Amino acid sequence: MIDLHIHSTLSDGTLSPAEIIAIAKNRGVKALSITDHDTMAAYPEALSLGLDQGVEVMPGIEITAHHRDLSLHILGFGLRHDSLALVTGLKTIQEARQERNRRIIAKLCGFNLSITMADLPHGHGQTGRPHIARALVQKGVVKSEPEAFARFLRKDGAAYVKRQLLPVRQAIAMITAAGGVAVFAHPGALKLADATLLALVRELVAEGVAGVEAYHPMNSEKTLRFLVKLCHTFGLITTGGSDYHGREGDKAPLGEAGGRRRVPDILLSALKARLTEIDPPGGTLVTPHFSPYPST
Ligand code: AMP
Ligand code: ZN
Ligand code: FE
Ligand code: FE
Repeated sequence: MIDLHIHSTLSDGTLSPAEIIAIAKNRGVKALSITDHDTMAAYPEALSLGLDQGVEVMPGIEITAHHRDLSLHILGFGLRHDSLALVTGLKTIQEARQERNRRIIAKLCGFNLSITMADLPHGHGQTGRPHIARALVQKGVVKSEPEAFARFLRKDGAAYVKRQLLPVRQAIAMITAAGGVAVFAHPGALKLADATLLALVRELVAEGVAGVEAYHPMNSEKTLRFLVKLCHTFGLITTGGSDYHGREGDKAPLGEAGGRRRVPDILLSALKARLTEIDPPGGTLVTPHFSPYPST
């Protein structure tokens, strides 16, 4: 079992990297990637935790970007968390996020709610609407996080502020500059017709995307088959994961990709082969070039 799409407390998940790795070990997940939104704050600790526990950890991230009028998620794998290009790009994203958080909080204060930036987590990682929702629950303004979204934070909520997104080209460039491969996340979430999806994948490949996340709870069985075929035709890698956030409402548990589907182990080997091509042994990639795990 492998799972290449998981969120931790460093973004909007409820479990720490250590808890994720412990659960993975318990469930028989041999390899995983923590792909937090717009941050690699889980690294490098996640790598050493994985080594300690005997769970292989592939460095990862999920960056939100725009392409035309679409908001897309781009996964990055095998990238160096300390790459200057990546760190600089992520800093810009976090600053834009903080500015947006300030504006959301100003709107909430306009409703006479006593909430300040100090009520949000500070330090490492990504801070956004889920943290504002949590703060509103803690202050007793709302009973639950879904209620916070419904009343204030959703697109049609009273305190909604749009987020500025960077162009998809820039998100991909940050990942590739850091030695990683960029993967188009959960295409099924866009609910596009096959022909439109095909055209979009072609455009993204032209922008530097090297793979598609075929196995994901938001991809239907039909979309999964379509994507696997498409990747084969275009010579793209396929990846997959649960998108587990440690929440009750998650569509799949850790290690599954929806509808009890498993992500084939071979996808990780293909991903590693692609990483070796772009970053030959002797390079500075954090992904170990040796394997401490017995080969199966
Ligand atoms: P942000 O990146 O700050 O815009 O926050 C987006 C995150 O908020 C998503 O990744 C979800 O974790 C969470 N979220 C978005 N919409 C809702 C909703 N309606 N109810 C609960 N959580 C939500
Ligand atoms: Zn999320
Ligand atoms: Fe996503
Ligand atoms: Fe995700």
